Amino acid sequence: MLEKVLIANRGEIALRIMRCCRDLGIKTVAVYSTADRDLKHVRLADEAVCIGPAPSAESYLNIPAIISAAEITSSDAIHPGYGFLAENADFAERVQTSGFVFIGPTANVIRTMGDKVSAIREMRAAGVPCVPGSDGPLGNDDARNLRIAEEIGYPIIVKAAGGGGGRGMRVVRGADELLESIKLTQAEAGAAFGNSTVYMEKYLEKPRHVEFQVLADEHGNAIHLGERDCSMQRRHQKVVEEAPAPGVSQSLRNDIGARCVEACKRIGYRGAGTFEFLYENDEFYFIEMNTRVQVEHPVTEMVTGIDIIKAQLSVAAGEPLSMTQDDITIKGHAFECRINAEDPENFMPSPGTIVQYHPPGGLGVRVDSHVYNGYRVPPNYDSMIGKLIVYGNTRQSAIARMRGALSEIFIDGIKTNIPLHRQIFQDENFIDGGTDIHYLEKKLGL
Ligand code: ADP
Repeated sequence: MLEKVLIANRGEIALRIMRCCRDLGIKTVAVYSTADRDLKHVRLADEAVCIGPAPSAESYLNIPAIISAAEITSSDAIHPGYGFLAENADFAERVQTSGFVFIGPTANVIRTMGDKVSAIREMRAAGVPCVPGSDGPLGNDDARNLRIAEEIGYPIIVKAAGGGGGRGMRVVRGADELLESIKLTQAEAGAAFGNSTVYMEKYLEKPRHVEFQVLADEHGNAIHLGERDCSMQRRHQKVVEEAPAPGVSQSLRNDIGARCVEACKRIGYRGAGTFEFLYENDEFYFIEMNTRVQVEHPVTEMVTGIDIIKAQLSVAAGEPLSMTQDDITIKGHAFECRINAEDPENFMPSPGTIVQYHPPGGLGVRVDSHVYNGYRVPPNYDSMIGKLIVYGNTRQSAIARMRGALSEIFIDGIKTNIPLHRQIFQDENFIDGGTDIHYLEKKLGL
């Protein structure tokens, strides 16, 4: 096992990783910016190193500072969490060439899967269903591009190979807009991601977002832990997640899961990862892979009983996976609400000091959060301040439990989106299950 892990992140995920290391008897090193001296995990970690000022570019994205912190503390490994440097292939490479273990896949795999065109190519080869599309980048041959779009059938979506965070995409409804849209997306992608490559795929009108969790080791073993439905989104940001996805049959789950496992073996994947799909009319269409742990991993942990962070740590230490596909059963239902420090009316961030905090509790209620009474939410980072996760034997009992937990939770001093979550868990269509990715924005009148 690893002896000392440096956690290159902040907030709830840093605390989650620290707690897991503590369970395993692994020492931890927290790194923090000057705005984050009072973070809970910074106080609880075995060692803590300040790596720079508040702006992320000078601290949590500062590769030399993080590597130096690992060196002076004699850490063996670096866990990147999610966001920040988690999917930065150059970082993964630097960690490794500096003599530390990167808790994640190899730099090459991150690079391949980070380019959507090469990721889709790999997935097709592994038999993972993808959205009908251009099968490679678009060139400057206008006639060819018009023909490809015609074959796919409008509406189509032009997407940047290097895009992320819901940016670098344009929906095209007819041939008259196509060429102009391709040129605009190429120019934007070049400016935003330093890569002007774009491709085209069928635009699905009312899909759901359903993603598969996988775990793989470096000995060629891989398994899947079923799927999560993350269709409740606003501006491509997930708001509520659940596992399993309502209405997905066990045979379809087994089939798609097995294809994801096959893809992991094919690309030599290591660690935890997620295959993201759009799901429409009982069909799955791969859109991208996340080569890291995700915010919503706890709902999968609740229905499988598997500690995903623990699996990441043991696989990174070179151990084989401790379970096989036959050991995995999906039991019950789990939901997660992302609690953000934001105005529930206009979604503007609401940083400041939390003067009162009463977390909910009881059987099947889990709160993954770094906040406490008197904690000051800094204005410099993502507004998520925690996650409320519940488990129930059935979807219905999990909904009842989430309603109870949402009525109990109390945060004063800053504004939060808790009122929005209370509304969602009273919404009849959401309660029925299976609403699409546009549902929440329509409900909010956006
Ligand atoms: P990013 O890396 O920016 O998150 P994704 O490829 O995951 O990009 O797409 C982000 C979102 O854009 C999806 O969750 C979905 O809402 C929308 N989207 C992407 N591709 C399609 C498509 N072919 N049809 C419909 N919506 C799409």
